[in-house]
Amino acid sequence: MKKIILAASLCAASFSHPASAQSDYQADSIFISKIFTAALSEGKCYEVLRHLTQDVGSRLSGSAGAAKAVAYTKEVMQQEKFDNVFLQNVMVPHWVRGAKEQGFIIVGKQKTSVPIAALGGSIATPKEGLKAKVIEVKTFQELRDLGVEKVKGKIVFFNRPMDPAKLNTFVAYAGAVDQRGAGASEAAKMGAIGCIVRSMTTRLDDVPHTGSMRYASGAPIIPAAAISTNAAELLSKTLKEKPETEFYFKQNSETLPDAPSHNVIGEIKGAKTANQYIVAGGHLDSWDFAEGAHDDGSGCVQSIEALRLLKLLGYTPNNTLRAVMYMNEENGLKGGIAYADSAKSKNEKHLAAIESDRGGFIPLGFGIVGTPAQKVKIVSWSNLFSPYGIHELGPGGGGADIGPLGQQGTVLLGLIPDSQRYFDYHHASNDTFDKISKRELELGAAAMASMMYLLDKYGVE
Ligand SMILES: [Zn+2]
Repeated sequence: MKKIILAASLCAASFSHPASAQSDYQADSIFISKIFTAALSEGKCYEVLRHLTQDVGSRLSGSAGAAKAVAYTKEVMQQEKFDNVFLQNVMVPHWVRGAKEQGFIIVGKQKTSVPIAALGGSIATPKEGLKAKVIEVKTFQELRDLGVEKVKGKIVFFNRPMDPAKLNTFVAYAGAVDQRGAGASEAAKMGAIGCIVRSMTTRLDDVPHTGSMRYASGAPIIPAAAISTNAAELLSKTLKEKPETEFYFKQNSETLPDAPSHNVIGEIKGAKTANQYIVAGGHLDSWDFAEGAHDDGSGCVQSIEALRLLKLLGYTPNNTLRAVMYMNEENGLKGGIAYADSAKSKNEKHLAAIESDRGGFIPLGFGIVGTPAQKVKIVSWSNLFSPYGIHELGPGGGGADIGPLGQQGTVLLGLIPDSQRYFDYHHASNDTFDKISKRELELGAAAMASMMYLLDKYGVE
């Protein structure tokens, strides 16, 4: 089937374009095939990811792991002899989990221990923990409709699942994540004293999935934790049978003063317009109890690999190409903001920015944020990607870290891998290196290198 499509597209190219465009098409097609061959047969990103996840380990902003990850990725890019490798200072939030959390469903004298994890940014419970009756809701509106009298003094339990019917799991995530981000403050406004949120995953499992939350100004500040999906089901069932059920939880999380950290940047200088940039990146930080293999060690190592592949194949770029390891995407986005601020103050014109932050799964396309003309130009390269199963060029958006660059007119591209398994591991302790397919990771790196090559050769204006 793919062969037929490719043949048809080659015919279309030969009939509808002048001879020069046709020879460019052939040259591009050959070069992209070399990128994929090199990625799959001489790839290095899998081993770099192994070290980053298993030897460096978790790397929440401000932690010793994050500092090690900065030093390690800098060293990797120096060993690859990129033209310039440097650190960019950034102050980051420094939140720490403290001792492992405890959670219990309590019915009379019966206590059932359940897996919970403090949400990133949450305060601790009182030292002795927090025990109260539970009120379960699925939406903020449902919470408000209950009224202060029914919520006051209780623990609010947000239990709206990610919609399993959504084909794109990021759409399902977007439809549920308000509970995690804003649930605690919404509950506190109604007089609640604690907040428990069903983990953001489509799977039923025993692993709590953390993630950032924020306190709304003016609302009381109450502790918030994620509960595993199996435990959420159990709590919901128990509440239906015994509405007097109580929940107890204890957590020791704390926000320390902001800490100094870094973005890590490697570049290959452009031969024609070195003051124009095309960047590929991922975020170097991960949640504290996760190796962060898919989120987002994958995106970091793929970005380094994209530059390495182009250098290996002897490509001399017109514009300066960069691999950027952004710090602090998970709980502050300070790295992405600092990078864009620096680009602006140094007058570094960024033509395009690619981000890989949806896991190291098999690549299917790129989301594009740009003008209609820019989108048309990028979509015109579809035939060059289709032999590799990459068909989705267009909708889907860029990425959080590169978002701030968008305000400078930079075209934003987000690598879109298959999304079905991402939320099995997202922000959880099971996001480990063994969940990574070497080939799928390498194909993503090759897709990014190919996109960088086309953006560099043809521009996007
Ligand atoms: Zn991420």
